[in-house]
Amino acid sequence: MLQKTSHYMRQANLIGGEWIQADSGATIDVTNPATTLKIGTVPKSGKAETRRAIEAAQTAFESWRKTTANDRSKLLRKLHDLILENQDALAELLTMEQGKSLTEAKGEIAISAAYILWFAEEGRRTYGDTVPSPWAERRILVTKEPVGVVAAITPWNFPSSMLARKIGPALAAGCTVVVKPASQTPYSGLAWGALCEEAGFPKGVVNIVTGSAGEIGDEICANPLVRKLTFTGSTEVGKILMEKCAATVKKVSMELGGNAPFLVFDDADIDRAVEGAMVAKYRNSGQTCVCTNRFFVQEGVYDAFVEKLAAASNTLKVGNGLDAGTQQGPLIDEKAVEKVEEFIQDATAKGGKVVAGGKRHELGGSFFQPTVIAEAKPDMMFMKEEIFGPLAPVFRFKTEEEAIQLANDTQFGLASYAYTGSLNRAFRVMEGLKYGMVGINEGLITTVEAPFGGVKESGLGKEGGHQGIEDYLDTKYVCIGGL
Ligand code: ADP
Repeated sequence: MLQKTSHYMRQANLIGGEWIQADSGATIDVTNPATTLKIGTVPKSGKAETRRAIEAAQTAFESWRKTTANDRSKLLRKLHDLILENQDALAELLTMEQGKSLTEAKGEIAISAAYILWFAEEGRRTYGDTVPSPWAERRILVTKEPVGVVAAITPWNFPSSMLARKIGPALAAGCTVVVKPASQTPYSGLAWGALCEEAGFPKGVVNIVTGSAGEIGDEICANPLVRKLTFTGSTEVGKILMEKCAATVKKVSMELGGNAPFLVFDDADIDRAVEGAMVAKYRNSGQTCVCTNRFFVQEGVYDAFVEKLAAASNTLKVGNGLDAGTQQGPLIDEKAVEKVEEFIQDATAKGGKVVAGGKRHELGGSFFQPTVIAEAKPDMMFMKEEIFGPLAPVFRFKTEEEAIQLANDTQFGLASYAYTGSLNRAFRVMEGLKYGMVGINEGLITTVEAPFGGVKESGLGKEGGHQGIEDYLDTKYVCIGGL
């Protein structure tokens, strides 16, 4: 382990500028999914610690909100530089707790830094309006103000960057935060605390609590001081949190599950489509909410696409993310492997054909072979459910209308992809897909400059882009009379 990695591996909560244990002293073990060995512990906190973190954030908010956008931007730029200076250590920490390859982990740290820089810039442009008044003696101003204390709950698949796009806009807008990282991958979350301290953010501006998701979540939702909840995770938990937030009418942003379709038309460049398919499917071992869940391929190119995708899948180097050359790490845990096995059993029982992989990897543990299933049919489980693993089901279709109908036949609406050489078709398909994001002839579309987010049960709100700071601001109308 790099020396700096152990420096950033904090095994305590950060509340009001103090690194402290849970009141009970209880801890949760954190393991490396590649080795299943314990790497450390974090506090198992509950309601009381969360309440104190929220109060610390509220106290800090009173002065933080009065700082200038320019001062906040300077601190964020310092944070950006610190992240990049420590990219190797932060990536090593990420791989150790999450499993992804070091190359992907370094990429995630780089995009975390990029989000911080983006919001350091955007925070200086939260313009209001002056509106032509209907009254001769009155004037109308519209201003933007920080919403207040923001709570952020994040998942294990991108434990660093999911926080970057919440902490970044929150701090830039003048909000303070209480963060709850996922228990499987808490260290990349806690590292944000250490980095923010080093960058010079005042005590209490960033607070981080690890522990019981239910208890921490309940306190966050019930506490009236929290004015916004930003959540990335499953649709199931997102719905529970939205319901609970109703009691205190908080703003909510939800980045929830996906069921991304990937359409390949007869007129597509097949090699380019396969290249896009590999990243859209296997990034983070298939464990991203924008990973392709269903490939729909037109009959004229179906066999060629399946053959090329299977061949490419067989070349992926599976291994410990820390080993040089590894392209695909393990799945997060045994449960994730069992779920993938269930999808494969269900599909093969209904006529699906395994044309690559199909089994646990010989490395054991939670490693799984990159898998392609041909002859996928709409009655198979993965038509409706998110796979979250390295399994690529390939459906066959005849017409454009049929492809769009199949692609939209889901309650989700996050990312979608389509490959075609026809400009007219690209527009028709783009407009026909009921998704928050569409990649046309591109399989990897996330970037800080663009608004990331879904429609339908994939969520509410946008992260990144100029839109990404809006949810952290309240709009205030001021009427000045008696002129
Ligand atoms: P995933 O399938 O990615 O683990 P989850 O929605 O289960 O998705 O988890 C995402 C985040 O939500 C994690 O930080 C997890 O601990 C947290 N979480 C899970 N259940 C709850 C809950 N009832 N209340 C608040 N947070 C929760």
